[in-house]
Amino acid sequence: MADVALTVIGGGVVGLAIAAELAPRFSPLFVLERNAKYGQETSSRNSEVIHAGIYYAPGSLKARLCVEGREMLYRLCEAHDIPHRRITKIITATKPEEESELERLHKVGTENGAPLEFLSAARVHALEPHITTVGGLLSPTTGIISAHGLMDFYHHTARHHGAEVQLHCRVVGLERLSAGYSVTIEEEGQRSSFTSEWVINAAGLECDTIAALAGIDVDVAGYRLHYCKGSYFALPGSMNGLASRLVYPVPTKHSLGVHVVIDLGGRLKFGPDAEYLPNREINYDVDPSKRHAFAESVRRILPSVKDEDLTPDMSGIRPKTQPPGDPARDFIIAHETDRGLPCLINLIGMESPALTASPAIAKYVANFLKSA
Ligand SMILES: Cc1cc2nc3c(=O)[nH]c(=O)nc-3n(C[C@H](O)[C@H](O)[C@H](O)COP(=O)(O)OP(=O)(O)OC[C@H]3O[C@@H](n4cnc5c(N)ncnc54)[C@H](O)[C@@H]3O)c2cc1C
Repeated sequence: MADVALTVIGGGVVGLAIAAELAPRFSPLFVLERNAKYGQETSSRNSEVIHAGIYYAPGSLKARLCVEGREMLYRLCEAHDIPHRRITKIITATKPEEESELERLHKVGTENGAPLEFLSAARVHALEPHITTVGGLLSPTTGIISAHGLMDFYHHTARHHGAEVQLHCRVVGLERLSAGYSVTIEEEGQRSSFTSEWVINAAGLECDTIAALAGIDVDVAGYRLHYCKGSYFALPGSMNGLASRLVYPVPTKHSLGVHVVIDLGGRLKFGPDAEYLPNREINYDVDPSKRHAFAESVRRILPSVKDEDLTPDMSGIRPKTQPPGDPARDFIIAHETDRGLPCLINLIGMESPALTASPAIAKYVANFLKSA
């Protein structure tokens, strides 16, 4: 008999959502988090947008779990007073050549279950007088959320059902036993091990390291992560009136483009850009020398913004499974029975929209455990 029924590695929004979902059925359940508090990495370094599910390949996990998660999230927010706003979003075409892209997005979004409404330039300007447009799309189901509010809710729910969230606790070993796994942890320089029947790897930027500890060749499996940093610049509060909802340009082949992000306090930010980090060196500083390039991107949609209006704000790092230049890949959520690792579930490359999708991801993972 294992010491623990289920161990979740990683106390980000995904690990906490899974713990909240499974704690009523698995006891003891541990969440192991290396930092002093849960949710200190990617889960608190993002745009806090409840995505509608527009951009993802129809049928992909990203599309399905985003649309399902979006609706679950609104219900959770309303039932449990998690701070959020159904703020909506406009995708604006800034020149006639971009209008065909609106048609394509409308088709893909509709297929995914993300309703979109065509807007004439006059309608866009009635809603957002300061933006450049020849026409746009309105996404009524896009919103914003407090990521910390959501994680506090998952954390509270998991604890209420008996889960133990262990902080300052880094997983350094994972070994398959005849039944379950031996999990080795490091706490304040001390190593110790325990056994767990199930292990769920939700370690964000280290999910490939954890998979490798279990003996998986991450290059063969396609699990190797490439870190892609996204930085933001902010406007002064006096310029908050420039937009009242999220505003995106039409996407390019490789990125959604720098867009207008609004937080729950009404503050306007622009970002994120996309910069692959060689050697996976984590540095969350925002390079002030990017200001002019940011301002140029912003002026595509808000022409009145000047370079000097922008100040470096925050950044986050996307755990991508594709190297620079390759097309976007889907989430990987795998029960590793076929690799001879039953009762190990890996969540790999949980980049955007995993915050939005978190409640649906938790249900998806729970189904693996139900059918096992
Ligand atoms: C710039 C940017 C903008 C984004 N915007 C949005 C958005 O608007 N909407 C949206 O839906 N999504 C967005 N995302 C994506 C979203 O933030 C992530 O998909 C989500 O936060 C991933 O959560 P996670 O729990 O998988 O990862 P994390 O938050 O990284 O959590 C993983 C946890 O595992 C812990 N850990 C790692 N290794 C170990 C170990 N060995 N032992 C113990 N603990 C360990 C880490 O400390 C961390 O706390 C954005 C991402 C970025 C980078």
